Amino acid sequence: MEKQKFGKNYWKKYWIPPENIIKKTQKSFKAEKIFAMGLMPIRGPSGFRKLDYDFAEKLPVKEIITHLEEHHFNVLGVVIKDTDGACMWDTKIGWNPTDRDILGEFVDAGKDSNVRIMASFTSMNDGYQGHIHPDRVSRHGSTGHHTDYDVNGEKIKTPYRPGDSTTRCEGEMRVDIPDGKTFYDVQKKIPFLQNKIDSKKGAARGARGVGFIPTTSFMCPNSEHVEYLVDLAGEVVKNYKIEAFFADYIRYDGEFTDICCCERCVAKFVRQYGDPRKIMKS
Ligand SMILES: [Zn+2]
Ligand SMILES: [Zn+2]
Repeated sequence: MEKQKFGKNYWKKYWIPPENIIKKTQKSFKAEKIFAMGLMPIRGPSGFRKLDYDFAEKLPVKEIITHLEEHHFNVLGVVIKDTDGACMWDTKIGWNPTDRDILGEFVDAGKDSNVRIMASFTSMNDGYQGHIHPDRVSRHGSTGHHTDYDVNGEKIKTPYRPGDSTTRCEGEMRVDIPDGKTFYDVQKKIPFLQNKIDSKKGAARGARGVGFIPTTSFMCPNSEHVEYLVDLAGEVVKNYKIEAFFADYIRYDGEFTDICCCERCVAKFVRQYGDPRKIMKS
């Protein structure tokens, strides 16, 4: 754990888990040490910069668990809701574009093995919910620009002003059109997919690869999105025996700083703190 490897985000500088929490975790995972692997079911077979529900539908769940056991892993973290918003379980509340209950299959396969299942859940970033509920999407508080793409697939900047929606081109995930299918076939499954191409391969971890670009949205913390998340989380913990639930992406757009300045949020702020209001930077 070299300090320089993590730069200023070296977390042990800020927090070391207390002994009782370590004990509790060991007890619930039934293990002295945890060797965990993570899985993002919708991100395609390589590079994790694709959005690919066909890949999720073909995941060999039992083989994955067997393989993890062979390699002495004892925990698998499954991203059951990624930034696209698809729910990888049998849900009555959310949107599951696959024909599978992937979480249920992992929980069942885990039962017969030494691999415990934990779930990671993207909270405030949700491409699908932003698409179907534009009224729940967070709004910018200042002037800036979104990264957009022109007809040749080259990057361009689109300006936004205070009050504009934060819905924009997804920064990481790109979509390939499978052989024998058209863009419009795929858009039926991914309704927030735009007929726009990113033609450049990015570098290193940010490598997106070429492909069609979905939209993404950060949701407003004073909207019904919050109740939606609580209901989804309730459904998961009620119906699936998982060892841990990680609520990821509890934050705003723009690397934590672009707080929601919609009418709801501004009115609530003014009620609590009075006018004039000003935008705070974290
Ligand atoms: Zn292997
Ligand atoms: Zn808001």
